[in-house]
Amino acid sequence: MPITTEDTIRWLQRLAVVLHENRDFLTQLDSPIGDADHGINMDRGFQAVVEKLPALAGMDIGSMLKTVGSTLVSTVGGASGPLYGTAFLRAGIASAGKHELDEADVVSMLEAALEGVKARGKAQPGEKTMVDALTPALVAAKEVEAQGLDLSQLLQRVSDAAEAGMKATIPMLATKGRASYLGERSVGHQDPGATSSWLILRTLAETIG
Ligand code: ADP
Ligand code: MG
Repeated sequence: MPITTEDTIRWLQRLAVVLHENRDFLTQLDSPIGDADHGINMDRGFQAVVEKLPALAGMDIGSMLKTVGSTLVSTVGGASGPLYGTAFLRAGIASAGKHELDEADVVSMLEAALEGVKARGKAQPGEKTMVDALTPALVAAKEVEAQGLDLSQLLQRVSDAAEAGMKATIPMLATKGRASYLGERSVGHQDPGATSSWLILRTLAETIG
């Protein structure tokens, strides 16, 4: 079963709820190694996305995701606004004109999103950012696609890999973003952006599963 335009809307709706429910958690994670606003930023951005949902009806998936990206850029602020904005814009470009997505589409959209984040933020894996959740997610997506598993299995494995990547940020030393100002004191804390990346992918797996 492919991902449809209706699934995409359901994902975005559900994601806004999940990010609202995790607002305090994400903000608490951003407290010791940031400025305690990541949950506030993500919640504000996805409430703005929800307001745009009626206007998305009838669009192809690429246009929907491009609208999400530009909404995030204009409402989220901080480092994560332009980074997630770019991720959704690039995923939208990779799915331009499509009303259904298959396994290969999901792999190329995830790849485009990650490349966009890396181009914009210049972070590589191991620097304690969202890249550390998104990179293993893409590796898992490629592996599962090569094995010929279906979309719900692919998305579950992607979510699990992002979760493992998120947990692996705990012992990392931050060398990008605000957390890098702390040097060695950034070690021992889970990265907020890697955590929101996992929530985004977990919610997609739950919506399609
Ligand atoms: P800010 O750091 O401006 O307050 P947020 O708190 O919303 O913005 O987002 C912080 C998250 O952004 C970090 O946890 C990290 O995952 C991510 N991040 C910061 N800088 C970069 C970067 N250069 N590349 C990738 N991700 C980054
Ligand atoms: Mg912050």
